[in-house]
Amino acid sequence: MESGNVLLASSAALQMRSGGARNNSTLVCAPVMADSVDKMVTNMDKAKREGADLVEIRLDSLKSFDPYEDLKTLIKECPLPTLVTYRPTWEGGQYDGDEKTRLDALRLAMEFGADYIDVELQVAHEFNDSIYGKKPEKFKLIVSSHNYLDTPSVEDLGNLVARIQATGADIVKIATTALEIIDVARVFQITVHSQVPIIAMVMGERGFLSRILSPKFGGFLTFGTIESGVVSAPGQPSMKDLLYLYNFRHIGPDTKVFGIIGKPVHHSKSPILYNEAFKSAGFNGVYVPLLVDDVSTFLQTYSSSDFAGFSCTIPHKEAALKCCDEVDPVAKSIGAVNCIVRRPSDGKLFGCNTDYVGAISAIEDGLRGSHNISNTANSPLAGKLFVVIGAGGAGKALAYGAKEKGARVVIANRTYDRARELSDIVGGDALSLADLENFHPEDGMILANTTSIGMQPKVDETPIPKHALRYYSLVFDAVYTPKMTRLLREAEESGAIIVTGLEMFIGQAYEQFERFTGLPAPKELFRKIMAKY
Ligand code: NAP
Repeated sequence: MESGNVLLASSAALQMRSGGARNNSTLVCAPVMADSVDKMVTNMDKAKREGADLVEIRLDSLKSFDPYEDLKTLIKECPLPTLVTYRPTWEGGQYDGDEKTRLDALRLAMEFGADYIDVELQVAHEFNDSIYGKKPEKFKLIVSSHNYLDTPSVEDLGNLVARIQATGADIVKIATTALEIIDVARVFQITVHSQVPIIAMVMGERGFLSRILSPKFGGFLTFGTIESGVVSAPGQPSMKDLLYLYNFRHIGPDTKVFGIIGKPVHHSKSPILYNEAFKSAGFNGVYVPLLVDDVSTFLQTYSSSDFAGFSCTIPHKEAALKCCDEVDPVAKSIGAVNCIVRRPSDGKLFGCNTDYVGAISAIEDGLRGSHNISNTANSPLAGKLFVVIGAGGAGKALAYGAKEKGARVVIANRTYDRARELSDIVGGDALSLADLENFHPEDGMILANTTSIGMQPKVDETPIPKHALRYYSLVFDAVYTPKMTRLLREAEESGAIIVTGLEMFIGQAYEQFERFTGLPAPKELFRKIMAKY
């Protein structure tokens, strides 16, 4: 087997061919899956335009395939180095023919100049023996193993890598399945200690992290799709997201990892905001969505200084507070944190709540008729009747914040006991959600929805009937996907001032950015980015 250095040198050559400055040697590969050779050739050109380093030709996706003619065309026409894969059904692919035909086609691909061939561990010895002494100089054999059920222990993964190495593989590829996000940590451990070039991916939404952070841990290659939704394995990001959203070329061993902990989390706009802001500030960080089931085991698993800070969203803000070593007193009163920072000096976790500042400032600005974040002593909320729908993390932040500003607070919640509990803490009143419709002791009240009612995909839902909105002078909705919820639309039609969740989002993000980076937040950039949504 050739040494890792030789392989990295060959990666560098590939990178030179693909062009562009970069801070890591991890290749970006576009899987090309199509039912015809013509479509594949079109997609290869697109892969090059989008910035891929190489293309994976998935022969098993072709409807009809003439090995001699089609391989000659595909390899000759490809504007990028090629990785040829002919995945059988028994390893998760689409080819269900005989093995001899399949392996003959792969050998032919090598003879026609494919840069890489991927063969499955089960047939790797046989395949490698058959090409012994015939391998072109630049050619590399990838031997792969796919586990669609789970991610084994570190020990078992280590043994798997050793078995793959023993076949004479130039490059090891392991793909496992994440049942929980903590599974990915084991694959990072294997990647970082691998003595051979390794492609290590964890499939599924919970494994997404493995694809983005591959260069941080020294992975040889990651996959990025050129057609949204057309993936060769579950959880693959698009090429555009890899390169432009996650700034993949700039991720290296020293890059600090930040992310949003939530469930669900795919709708979050935070990765767009923070990654763009990191780039503009020249800060060496990457911000990723983290689909977390249990926040405590997540924080225990990703406990190194590499994982420097987290935003927290549904449903983890309260559980996250209990995991912090130190909590800001305001967050403690609210009972929820939405921002966790790892202190560089001792690695301890510090939790705080920036939702409170973001939401209340946005509502005050709405009442003042301005969109400049300001903190004047006299709040326009003083003396107002402030109705909060919801008693979760955001509800607590709004209730506590409104009370601080001198408002009279009423909490309406689906689970009445939680409304009661919160209203007792802040010194207000409680309602059940069902009673909200007929609650109108006075005109000119403020309404703040802090539940996820109306959030995508259930955009037709609203927490309160339209006719009941005429008693409110301002309506705020914490939901920001979509920006204009049904609640806000109907409130505007009823003559109320409306304040979107986007304003709260921008407000809370200012403070998180400063806590994460120690740098002043690029406020104008935040507004510009979020104006697109
Ligand atoms: P959370 O802690 O899980 O609380 C959710 C609250 O919503 C609870 O009071 C829950 O009532 C209620 N709820 C959930 N589904 C409901 C339904 N179908 N019908 C009635 N009530 C329901 O969540 P969170 O962190 O506070 O977040 C809540 C919302 O605020 C989310 O949409 C989130 O995206 C948004 N948010 C926005 C920003 C921003 O910057 N714009 C910041 C933070 C949060 P029960 O007590 O009865 O379960």
